[in-house]
Amino acid sequence: MLDAPVSALPGIKAPDVNRLNKLGVETIRDLLLTLPFDWETYGEPVPIASLAVGAQATVVGTIISIAPKITRFKKMKLTEAIIRDESDAGLRVAWFNQPFVARQLHKGDRVAVAGLVKIGYGMLEMQNPHHERLEGNEEGEPSRVGGLMPKYHLVGGLSSKKIAGWVESALPLAGELEDLLPERVREHHRLLPVAEAVRLGHRPDTFAQWREARRRMAFAELFELQAAFALMRASIAAEPATPIAYSQDVIDAFKAGLGFELTRAQRRSTWEAFQDMEKPVPMNRLLNGDVGSGKTAVAAACVAMAHAAGLQSVVMAPTEILARQHLHRFRAYLEASFPGLTVELLVSSQSAAERRRVKTAAASGHCALVVGTHALIEEDVEFMDLGLAVVDEQHRFGTRQRELLRAKGQGRPHFLAMTATPIPRTLALASYGEMSVSVIDEQPPGRMPVETEVVEPDQRRRAYELVREQVHAGRQAFVICPLIEDSETVVARSATAEFERLQKDVFPDLRMGLVHGRLKEKDEVMRAFVSGEVRVLVATAVVEVGVDVPNATVMMIEGADRFGLAQLHQFRGRVGRGAGQSHCLLLTDDPSEPALNRLNLMTQIRDGFKLAEEDMRIRGMGELMGSRQHGMSDLAMQALQQPELLSEVRQEAESLLEADPGFEHNPLLKAAVARRLDLTSIS
Ligand code: ADP
Ligand code: MG
Repeated sequence: MLDAPVSALPGIKAPDVNRLNKLGVETIRDLLLTLPFDWETYGEPVPIASLAVGAQATVVGTIISIAPKITRFKKMKLTEAIIRDESDAGLRVAWFNQPFVARQLHKGDRVAVAGLVKIGYGMLEMQNPHHERLEGNEEGEPSRVGGLMPKYHLVGGLSSKKIAGWVESALPLAGELEDLLPERVREHHRLLPVAEAVRLGHRPDTFAQWREARRRMAFAELFELQAAFALMRASIAAEPATPIAYSQDVIDAFKAGLGFELTRAQRRSTWEAFQDMEKPVPMNRLLNGDVGSGKTAVAAACVAMAHAAGLQSVVMAPTEILARQHLHRFRAYLEASFPGLTVELLVSSQSAAERRRVKTAAASGHCALVVGTHALIEEDVEFMDLGLAVVDEQHRFGTRQRELLRAKGQGRPHFLAMTATPIPRTLALASYGEMSVSVIDEQPPGRMPVETEVVEPDQRRRAYELVREQVHAGRQAFVICPLIEDSETVVARSATAEFERLQKDVFPDLRMGLVHGRLKEKDEVMRAFVSGEVRVLVATAVVEVGVDVPNATVMMIEGADRFGLAQLHQFRGRVGRGAGQSHCLLLTDDPSEPALNRLNLMTQIRDGFKLAEEDMRIRGMGELMGSRQHGMSDLAMQALQQPELLSEVRQEAESLLEADPGFEHNPLLKAAVARRLDLTSIS
């Protein structure tokens, strides 16, 4: 029953099932495990006679009439009741599309209702208020309505009230939930058993109970993740890899051929990777550095070292444009200093003959490095002796794709993943726990900071003027479309509409281009932008704009308030790469104070890691998006605010694996971990 889809809940309709699915709630188990993230209080009941229009209020009274009705205009079903209280005033209450209300409540019932007070047909009114029957309730006092109301994460069309109703009907099943936390761990950390945590989490009597329930759920989730990482680390460490000996000559030649000095952070990261590669077990390292921090040079140093040890390397990038950019850069970094080191490209748009040539070179050991896209993981690609596999923008690939790449050699190659999303240390440990992390927290010298401004709705014209000015001065601009939580088709359509509007009404004289995920010609458009033919590029957030266009000096982001700070910072990193002063314009549709305050952080903070931390702090406080991209619920994300918790969880998971290799004696945990390793794309 727990694994039944939510559609099995009594009275639930298909649209609501879809909405729940969107929130990641597919089964009854998911529903039970998703606790409210906060509570709403309406306060103590007040007399109807003293109600003020526009206020949130709680009222206790007697139903003097109640009947189902149909609205005259839109033919909506509703239940309408009149409630009267001791102040002898009446309140009309209307529940739309909630026919069950009419079955629950009857004339003469004492009820509590809580909601927004309005005026309708000359009478005080509440629409769709929370309600509770007080009969049979010992004190005749409202226990929930005027006290705590749960707040659940929502998508359009859902309400916390609805979710609370479904949870209510599912709660009797809580006793069947299996506890994946070993009892010893639970006792050690004084954590509630799962069934109790679920009951108290949804229906606590006190805030303290709810917090305890949340602590338990967050702990369990992090524990499951860390157990999965511990298992992965153990399995990687059990496989042999060919050690790559460190050579000072190689590093000297590499540095001599670069044309610039490595930054301190680059040297440190390179050194960390070299130390890993010297070992007879595979390196498994994440290179985490801000956009433009020079990760490619670090990877190139590793390639040079592998080559000197007689081993080949492979570098996989998510798009063809990036792969081509890497081809040029790796050649520039390596080919002059290491004459025998040839770099080849493998992408699906090449001719069959060219691909065959590259595949033969790889299989026969005649090229030292192959750079490419997904084409690299096709079955017929083989390497003679692969020593190092590198994945760029690693979050764009799934576990399986990375595994396929690693499997291209005999035995396991050393593995280096790169990500341009600065991740705070705790989050990195929590979501990439199976890897060691090198941080490049320093930019190469000489970069001019990007001037960042928040543009409120009525100043939009100014933003357009800046774009025009810069383009007239020979520069280029990006326009990023707002994030729409919907299908890719909808996103594509709205981007297209915005592109057409700008081209027609705002920049009729400028050459513009459009890229979105659905577009077949997106590589062509990107190339036209790189070459300078297209001056203004309209792009959706889903599209890879991770290419170097030093001539672009304006990054204009529509609906900036909908993005996380880390993501805004990513976009900003696309400009400021050339000599000219660059600008980042954050357009917002939401001029409210919290939104503006958050965006203003962008104007003050330039360090991607600091912004990521701020992002986490702010989102942790409630407004959460994108947490699932880290494979965690918002609850777990929030728990990460206490770094001690994470290290405790990590230790517990490790010592459990030591005592019980493979988690054979903890079958529930084993199953949960297996599910996670299969599903996750974060490792
Ligand atoms: P990332 O992949 O981390 O975003 P790249 O490796 O693409 O960054 O490097 C960005 C740009 O900075 C490239 O043009 C690169 O040649 C240059 N670069 C990298 N390291 C240095 C350095 N230490 N000094 C000067 N320029 C550098
Ligand atoms: Mg890069």
